[in-house]
Amino acid sequence: MPLISVIISVYNESLCLEALYERLAKLKISVNDHKFEFIFVDDGSKDDSREIIRKLAKTDSDVKYVFFSRNFGHEMAMTAGLDHAKGDAIVLIDADLQDPPEVIIDMIGKWKQGFEIVYARRTVRKGETILKRFTSWAFYRLIRWLSKVDIPADTGDFRLMDRCVADQILRCRERNRFFRGLIAWAGFKQCPVFYDRDERLAGETKYSFFKLVKLAFDAVLSFSDAPLRLGVTLGGIVCLISFIIGISVIIQKLVYDIKVQGYALLITAITFLGGIQLLVIGMIGEYIGRIFTESQGRPLYICKEKSDSLPAEVEGFHSNPESITQEEV
Ligand code: UDP
Ligand code: MG
Repeated sequence: MPLISVIISVYNESLCLEALYERLAKLKISVNDHKFEFIFVDDGSKDDSREIIRKLAKTDSDVKYVFFSRNFGHEMAMTAGLDHAKGDAIVLIDADLQDPPEVIIDMIGKWKQGFEIVYARRTVRKGETILKRFTSWAFYRLIRWLSKVDIPADTGDFRLMDRCVADQILRCRERNRFFRGLIAWAGFKQCPVFYDRDERLAGETKYSFFKLVKLAFDAVLSFSDAPLRLGVTLGGIVCLISFIIGISVIIQKLVYDIKVQGYALLITAITFLGGIQLLVIGMIGEYIGRIFTESQGRPLYICKEKSDSLPAEVEGFHSNPESITQEEV
């Protein structure tokens, strides 16, 4: 029987946990041709979330938990869950019941059809402010425009991935991570399921404005080098402008014998120098960009399949989980 690991990140969600568990337990009964493990990752909660999780784990052996020593953030909680998951497919879900667990049934259906990543795309978002909806809408458009990776719009972290995808994600150990980006970056066969995003069952959002801004920064900086290239582009434009001004000054002087005023030369010199400075900063940015991508240490490429006669242990090919060595993870 295939095993499905459901990873739940928890941060001060004591009001939601029991209701969430009940719905997950119902799911387990309705999908009885699969085994389940529910991995609760507590991201340093200050309420009694941990006691509730411990209690659930005592009554149900499919409930497992990882408790962080402090709040490391949602992305790290999902990473820890992934590190510990043993499933043939892994589902990431929020604890606040905004992502209905019943959607997992559709996800499993798609997975059985051969899709390796099934992401849940929200059609309706209930109980969220217009500001949040707008910033989120704008963010997805911006990242899709800036990044070469095709990150699906209007999808949260609620998704299912096959074991082979999880193994590849596990090889990426970058610190400032944006999970949705990483999963999209890994490639593989993806498809959406559509759902209405519910209101949070209880409590309030754990993503403060600053946490969201940090996430947006991580997303843009780890999946796009556009900000670094800005210097080169701007420098190029400024140099071009100063060049045009310079030429026009020379023409005025030589061809029309117009008396060129001192400030014209001054402006030419200033814009030219400014342009050169921006260009040089931009070039340094290009080098830093290369250092940055090297330091992320992502695999160079990911193969999905190859002939048996080729050596198995070549870099980039790890569809067999056993072939990942401990140092790599
Ligand atoms: N979460 C977490 N660590 C954090 C912030 C949030 O583990 O530092 C969890 C939280 O408990 C929830 C999920 O991440 O299960 C999504 O957070 P939230 O619902 O507050 O975000 P929103 O849905 O408002 O974007
Ligand atoms: Mg939520």
